[in-house]
Amino acid sequence: MVLSGLDDLYRDDVILDHCRNPRNFERLGNPDFCGDAVNPFCGDEIHIELGFDEDGKVDKVGFQGEGCAINMASGSLLSNAVLGLSRPQILDLKKQFTSVMNDDIDIGLESSIAVGELSALFSVKDFPVRIKCVLLSWSAIDGSM
Ligand code: ZN
Repeated sequence: MVLSGLDDLYRDDVILDHCRNPRNFERLGNPDFCGDAVNPFCGDEIHIELGFDEDGKVDKVGFQGEGCAINMASGSLLSNAVLGLSRPQILDLKKQFTSVMNDDIDIGLESSIAVGELSALFSVKDFPVRIKCVLLSWSAIDGSM
């Protein structure tokens, strides 16, 4: 799909759906990991909580956030994407996803990356000033998990 403007971006079905109906928009009672990130440029804030099962895989995830539609959609998509993943798998996904968003890897590799619904956010690359809004939620998750 080719998007011609920011209005079209906001009409993207996946982004719009996750923005309007954010998944896992809750606080966990007793999370194993909490991460926060703030983007003063547009007032975006994100708070991610993860719970891990005995195998070290995410079995509970909650996020809170406020700010622009892209930030909210990204947080919601992230929360779905990390469910069932181990810590190394989350960091791997973060690396792959942020590499594509930042154009650090060949764009042709996008199709080989198992990012699922996250790929909806690749259309934001047409709006460089918004890339930070996509990546904010991922910056809340790091090696301190
Ligand atoms: Zn934003």
